[in-house]
Amino acid sequence: MFDSLSDRLTGVFDKLRGRGALSEDDVRTAMREVRIALLEADVALPVVREFVDRATDRAVGGDVLRSVTPGQMVVKIVSDTLTEFLGSDSSDLMLDVTPPAVIMMVGLQGSGKTTTTAKIAKRLKEKERKKVMMASLDVNRPAAQEQLAVLGQQADVATLPIVAGQQPVDIARRALQAAKLQGYDVVMLDTAGRLHVDQALMDEMKAVADVATPQEILLVVDSLTGQDAVNVAKNFTEQVPLTGVVLTRMDGDARGGAALSMRFVTGAPIKFAGTGEKLDAIEPFHPARVAQRILG
Ligand code: GDP
Repeated sequence: MFDSLSDRLTGVFDKLRGRGALSEDDVRTAMREVRIALLEADVALPVVREFVDRATDRAVGGDVLRSVTPGQMVVKIVSDTLTEFLGSDSSDLMLDVTPPAVIMMVGLQGSGKTTTTAKIAKRLKEKERKKVMMASLDVNRPAAQEQLAVLGQQADVATLPIVAGQQPVDIARRALQAAKLQGYDVVMLDTAGRLHVDQALMDEMKAVADVATPQEILLVVDSLTGQDAVNVAKNFTEQVPLTGVVLTRMDGDARGGAALSMRFVTGAPIKFAGTGEKLDAIEPFHPARVAQRILG
């Protein structure tokens, strides 16, 4: 991931570091190259603009250019700005409530939402010793509920028994009740995905959120869809208070534009990165570490 962005930024940085004094023009030339590198990584245009403006202001303002090592300082400014755009919040889930805590998973069909639900459930169970129950609220797609049950078996995580014909809000209620009675720590609600963002999906999602009052609403988006992922995220943000984003298929994403745009566009931190099809292929997202990786 981020290979070509990383290469290009390293090139810009090497030039900056190699010089003694720097003029404002030198900084602006370097920032133009940073801009091209970000655009080539498929970072959304408003994000690129804000990034370059912020970094340029910091670099030409203050005493940076009069310092002993201006090149180093400009490099540091770009690195810090990168970390800022990747997000600086912790990726921890907020589950510190009287159990059961509720995590609601939202996103478009095919984004990897159901797989990610099972991945997070498995992680919570294995790494945090939580007793987790998953419930599928997808009554539109045939076999969606069975798919989650199969993943539950693979992950050794309980799923709410399927009751044919029940509607999403009622399934959510039943899941909460069952979890309370049976002493579960966490309930994960896998809401229905659609092919496109549509109002019926949004209304159903809001109704479920009203009933379930989740601690976490995680949006699952496919990082490979780049700018589309960013637009989808923007739409969801306007409808429900997202607490985090999960970017899937980071294993196949060489450019990384979605990762760099997401925080700025949604205001929500990226909490996890999906890195493969297996149920263990998920990693917490650490902005500073990712920035470090990009900067080599
Ligand atoms: P949903 O329709 O959003 O619930 O999507 P699914 O969970 O059914 O996933 C669709 C496909 O994407 C499945 O074949 C998953 O194995 C695959 N998938 C999900 N997450 C990842 C990921 O992080 N990396 C890769 N390579 N494949 C993934």
